[in-house]
Amino acid sequence: MNLPNKVAIVTGSGQGIGRAIAVKLAEVGDTIVVNDLGETAQGVAEEIRGINRQGLAILGDVSSTADVTRLVDQTISAYGKVDILVNNAGITRDQLLLRMSDEEWDKVLNVNLKSVFLCTRAVLRHMIRQRWGRIISIASIVGIVGNAGQANYASAKAGIIGFTRSIAKEVASRGITVNAIAPGFIDSAMTQKLSEKQRQELTSRIPLGYLGTPRDVADAVAFLASEEARYITGQVLSVDGGMSGG
Ligand code: NAP
Repeated sequence: MNLPNKVAIVTGSGQGIGRAIAVKLAEVGDTIVVNDLGETAQGVAEEIRGINRQGLAILGDVSSTADVTRLVDQTISAYGKVDILVNNAGITRDQLLLRMSDEEWDKVLNVNLKSVFLCTRAVLRHMIRQRWGRIISIASIVGIVGNAGQANYASAKAGIIGFTRSIAKEVASRGITVNAIAPGFIDSAMTQKLSEKQRQELTSRIPLGYLGTPRDVADAVAFLASEEARYITGQVLSVDGGMSGG
C-alpha cells in the first residue's frame, strides 16, 4: 500500500491510536497534519519529519466549529488540499446512567460524535472538488454491542456508525469513500486506566488472546485510505481480535 502525494488530517493524534495512525500514514504516504488539544502534537509532527515526510501540528478542539474551520483552512493554506480525514479524537467519562450528569453526556457526545460531523463537513467541500477522498472514523466495539457504564460513549460510537453509512451514500458519486473502524480493546492510555484484574478478565474474552496495539488499528486505517480499498464504502471494519465474531 502506498499513498503518494496525499495530505491527511488525523484528529487527536498526539498519542495512542491517533499517533500510530499518523505515523503509519506518513510511512506509506506523504503529508500529515497532526491535530490534538495539546503540545504532544508537536512531538508527533517532529517524528514524522524525522522520517522525511511532511508533518504539521495544528492544535485545536475538534468539538469546536471555530477550531475545526481553522484546522482545515490552515491545512489548505499549507498544502492546497486535503485527501484523507481520520476522525480519531475521543474521550470517555464513564458513569452508570442514573448517576450520569448532563455535562458527562454532552462532553462525550461533543468530542466523539459532533467532532466527526464538524470535521467531515469541513473537508468534504475540498474532496468533492477534487473528486477523491477518504473519510475514516474510529468508532468502537462498544458502539455495536453496548457496555454498562458507557451509555454516553456507546451512543456516540453508534452515532458514528449511522453517520458513516449515511455520508457514504451522500458522497459515493463523488469518488469519496466513508468508512468506520470499530476497535475492540487496544492497549492505550484509555485502557491503561483499567485494573490488572479487569485487563485479565477482558483478555479472556478476546479470541486472539491479547489486547490489540495502536498499530493494529493504524494498519487497518492505512488499508481503508489506500487506492486498493476504492470499492469499500459505508462499512464498519472490526479490529478486535475476534471479539465481535459471534
Ligand atoms: P487516548 O490515548 O486517550 O487518545 C485520544 C487523543 O484524543 C488524545 O491525544 C487527546 O488529547 C485527544 N483529544 C481528546 N479530546 C480532544 C478534542 N476535543 N480535540 C482534539 N483532540 C482531542 O485514546 P486512544 O485509546 O488512543 O483512542 C483513540 C480513539 O480510539 C478514540 O476515538 C477512542 O474512542 C477509540 N477507541 C479506543 C479503544 C481502546 O481500547 N483504546 C477502543 C475502541 C475505540 P489529550 O490527551 O491532550 O486530551
